[in-house]
Amino acid sequence: MTEEINPFDVAKTQIDIVAKEMGLDKNITEYLKRIERSLIVTIPIVMDDGTLQIFEGYRVHHSTVRGPGKGGIRYSMDVNLDEVKALATWMTWKTSLLNLPLGGAKGGVRVDPKQLSMKELEHLTRRYTAEIINVIGPDIDVPAPDIGTNAQVMAWMMDVYSMQKGRSVPGVVTGKPVEIGGSVGREPATGMGMFFVLQAFCEKLGLDLKSQTIVVQGFGNVGGTFAELLYNEGCKVIAVSDVSTGIYYEDGLEIEKLLEWVKQGNYLKDYENDKYKLITNRELLTTKCDVLAPSAIENQITQANVNEIECKIIVEGANGPTTPEADKVLFKKEIRVLPDILANAGGVCVSYFEYVQGINSYFWKLDRINEELKRIILEAFEETYKISEERHISLRTAAYIIAVSRIAKAIELRGIFP
Ligand code: NAD
Repeated sequence: MTEEINPFDVAKTQIDIVAKEMGLDKNITEYLKRIERSLIVTIPIVMDDGTLQIFEGYRVHHSTVRGPGKGGIRYSMDVNLDEVKALATWMTWKTSLLNLPLGGAKGGVRVDPKQLSMKELEHLTRRYTAEIINVIGPDIDVPAPDIGTNAQVMAWMMDVYSMQKGRSVPGVVTGKPVEIGGSVGREPATGMGMFFVLQAFCEKLGLDLKSQTIVVQGFGNVGGTFAELLYNEGCKVIAVSDVSTGIYYEDGLEIEKLLEWVKQGNYLKDYENDKYKLITNRELLTTKCDVLAPSAIENQITQANVNEIECKIIVEGANGPTTPEADKVLFKKEIRVLPDILANAGGVCVSYFEYVQGINSYFWKLDRINEELKRIILEAFEETYKISEERHISLRTAAYIIAVSRIAKAIELRGIFP
């Protein structure tokens, strides 16, 4: 499903849709569909068995008009330049929607990190960082974790950058371990942001959150945290999946046990419980539920399966899980979509807090982090909701109007160089 649809084409179509809705200048529209800069790098690694393997990596800046680039690093076999361009573009809208003084960037390496030893993973990360070193930095572009990367990977990136500068530069990445300048609350921030936005939306719709049934695709940092928060709230999480399988149980899965299992490095397919039924990721997406949270990868809800989707609300934990064609159908079916640039913006929000705390060398308590996260993400939600109600448009188009307007204004104020 993912190979047929180019995520960067999706990102450009989304710009066209919002440009038409808001009557955006044609030249600005074309400009926003362009990438500021993209870098492709070759990463040669001597593997543990002495052979040389060569990997390809990328770092892309979509827009730095409102501040330094910001965006994760993805390690996956599906990574390619157009995917990274799309992800960088979505980061621009996300930081703008939250009104953070940051731009949009993304990076990745085409590699399956699970096939590497720790030593190989470290070497790959260090060489990749050295290759992109001229386009990252606290004032230029600040990477963070994404699929297949974590706090340890960020620690190695920070170390390579710091060694080159001859001093410790924690501000070069976010999502670092707390011991070297990371922020408390960064790891669960994306799932927590999704939770806050869903909670607020349920209130608007007069729905009792506790009695909603939940299906989550992707059981990693984002999907796992989101599932856990809803489980703790008392919701029935009836299906979850990872790359290996989906599992379903109509009376509700025991999320804390499943999380323990995957955190030990296991796949869901190997989890043993007679009551649980194994389903495919495709079946999972069309499982009847109240809230569906695609929290894995792009292009999961498409023309091919949108008519079979049976839920009331979609909360996009992943970036770009819904194609524009599917979006139109969902709107007609009155399935409400909390769009990625809003729903999963909690991660970049706390990354921003990490950046600010690092600059000030003054670190906040978890309560303050969560309180500020809630305030900022709910402000964006309220603004988005208001515009969508006033104009009778989807929450996605409303969120895009806010985000794109801020970027367009920044371009107008700064002017075009020279
Ligand atoms: P992760 O690596 O922690 O987890 C990814 C999960 O998705 C795993 O359970 C994995 O098995 C599953 N998965 C991978 N490929 C799959 C496939 N082809 N089909 C089904 N499942 C698959 O990654 P994450 O950080 O949780 O990121 C998940 C999504 O959320 C990505 O789209 C990412 O861009 C987005 N996101 C992440 C953050 C963050 O802070 N980590 C912030 C915003 C958005």
